[in-house]
Amino acid sequence: MLTEVQAGPYTVRGISVGGVYTSLQVPELEVVLDVGLPIRSFAGTDRIFLSHAHPDHASGLGSLLGIRRLMNKGTPQVFLPAEVEAPVQEALAVLSRLHHTNMEVRTVPLRPGDVHKLGHDLYVRAFRTHHPVPSLGYQFLRRIAKLRPEFQGLPPQEIARRRQAGKALFDEVDRLELAYATDTLARVLETEPSLFDSRVLILEATFVDARHTVQAAQERWHLHLDELAARADQFRNEALVLMHFSQAFAPEEVRARVRERLPAALHERVHVFAPTSGRWFG
Ligand SMILES: [Zn+2]
Ligand SMILES: [Zn+2]
Repeated sequence: MLTEVQAGPYTVRGISVGGVYTSLQVPELEVVLDVGLPIRSFAGTDRIFLSHAHPDHASGLGSLLGIRRLMNKGTPQVFLPAEVEAPVQEALAVLSRLHHTNMEVRTVPLRPGDVHKLGHDLYVRAFRTHHPVPSLGYQFLRRIAKLRPEFQGLPPQEIARRRQAGKALFDEVDRLELAYATDTLARVLETEPSLFDSRVLILEATFVDARHTVQAAQERWHLHLDELAARADQFRNEALVLMHFSQAFAPEEVRARVRERLPAALHERVHVFAPTSGRWFG
């Protein structure tokens, strides 16, 4: 069964087990984040984002495209680190020949700092994550026009008149809505400090207790819960979704460790992306 959490105004649904499979969907943004396994109800979503090409994040792509074909869906967009665009296209070409089916995608190669318009006022900005292969995180944001402080309080007719006269009354402001950072060292919080200000932050926390030290987590290019606890007062997010837990911990153990190790002020905004009871999916 899929896990689903309500993080601020956003629904995050899917499956995530570190090193095994991760695929999430945020319906309000019409995005799928990683495709470590093909999930039937994600096949209708036309924007797919790959954080990197490790199998637990990317190996379900061909099968998801197969489900899309069944549903007569068109060509999806696949946003991905620029370095993996050619090999992903090659892999899909091989799968197309193998399955005698068309697995066409429109790739959108991104580099850290690139901003891409998704529609209306919605944009995505790629940022660097820290993993031993080409990898990216994604910040979804709304770019809105905000009335400059000196004009606030003017009657609407006056604003319209000045606007018609060509006056610059508005500043463009980025509202950070939801960020996705997985398979990364905690260093991402230093190289991308805006993550602390994203309304919702989906962040990996692969290791959660002393069975793996912080150093061991770092050697595997992953994040340890204790590294988040050490920065607890920096998270200004409305909601924090922790995911990509190692299967070395049962879901209820993860919940217990998160409760024990994070201060209450942070814990009350944290959603543990894991089954509420029992075992991991599969
Ligand atoms: Zn992973
Ligand atoms: Zn990885």
